[in-house]
Amino acid sequence: MADVPISAQDDSPEAKRYNRIRRWLGISDFVVGFVFLVVLLVTGWSGWLRDVSYRMGLQNYSLSVFMYLFLLLVISKVLGIGFDIYGFRLERRYKLSTQKFRSWLWDECKGFLVGLLMGTIVVELLYFTIRQWPQNWWLLAWALFMVLFVVLAQLAPVVLFPIFYKFEPLDNEDLRRRLIVLSERAGTRIRGVYRWKLSEKSKKANAALTGLGVTRRIILADTLLDNYTADEIEAVLAHELGHHVHRHIFKSILVQAAITLFGFWAANWTLHYAVDHHLFDFVQISDFADLPLLALVVTVLSFVLMPALNAYSRFNERQADRYAFESIASIAPFISSMNKLADQNLAERTPAKWVEWLFHSHPSISRRLQAAENWEQAQGAHPQV
Ligand SMILES: [Zn+2]
Repeated sequence: MADVPISAQDDSPEAKRYNRIRRWLGISDFVVGFVFLVVLLVTGWSGWLRDVSYRMGLQNYSLSVFMYLFLLLVISKVLGIGFDIYGFRLERRYKLSTQKFRSWLWDECKGFLVGLLMGTIVVELLYFTIRQWPQNWWLLAWALFMVLFVVLAQLAPVVLFPIFYKFEPLDNEDLRRRLIVLSERAGTRIRGVYRWKLSEKSKKANAALTGLGVTRRIILADTLLDNYTADEIEAVLAHELGHHVHRHIFKSILVQAAITLFGFWAANWTLHYAVDHHLFDFVQISDFADLPLLALVVTVLSFVLMPALNAYSRFNERQADRYAFESIASIAPFISSMNKLADQNLAERTPAKWVEWLFHSHPSISRRLQAAENWEQAQGAHPQV
């Protein structure tokens, strides 16, 4: 094995099977959701659901919009619950999850409520603007949506994530000191590093840069902190700092803003087209029975743009990796941390090209290791592994 480069290791049949099942699960879930929206529209059931919502909402428009969204989300949940349970059992079967069924069920309930709350804010805003400005609603809706998006990005680490996980400031002096050295070298400052208690639910390891402004922070899973050497954790920290230095969150918000603007324009065009050509049983765009059509525009757009957005994300990840190579003393801990992560998360080191191109937000482990080896060779040093 000594002559085989570390980046060319093969995937175990177990890792291949696990990732294949997960992919099919995701695709099936997506297809069922898509078909559900189409069926609602072509059968006229959406109109029937709107009438039910009006009765439940006591003929009040805003309340009826909420009732419609509530019914829609409940039905979607019921349709998708089989996939959710299968996904939970899959993680257990491959010993990647430590979560008990009750705890998982509680998370599902909380997830549903959070989704309902956020969905309500978005949908009420949408139909408010549609009612007030039927022609130009989409511009104002887009602006409001982006404000919401930025607020949410800022609040997520302090309000949203703690609903599902516990966090506490990192109390490891050595690591804190290393981060300060890394940050000073980068001429930047990060507000904090937090220990993310992932082990209560999962055996997988993870790390991320989250938040905006005062909530900007690096979160490191305890499953990583407790099993990796200080040098390996420093390599992971350097990667996350790379995202910060390259302003990836800010840039992603700009990309999101452009896509969302196009999305709102497309939604407006589609709604008007459907009404003008009497495609479905709604006669004006403020009739919220057209919500499945809006959702369909978003779904199709996300699907079409998925490869491009993933490619953009992989570009950012490569940039963060390069930043890590440059800021740590040796790439050896980067390589060993990647290998540990792949094993621990049962990730595919070498997925099929089309799989990586279509679905992966990160370059495959084999490519990341190859990039590290190439970088080291370009430095004229001998590989230290
Ligand atoms: Zn990253």
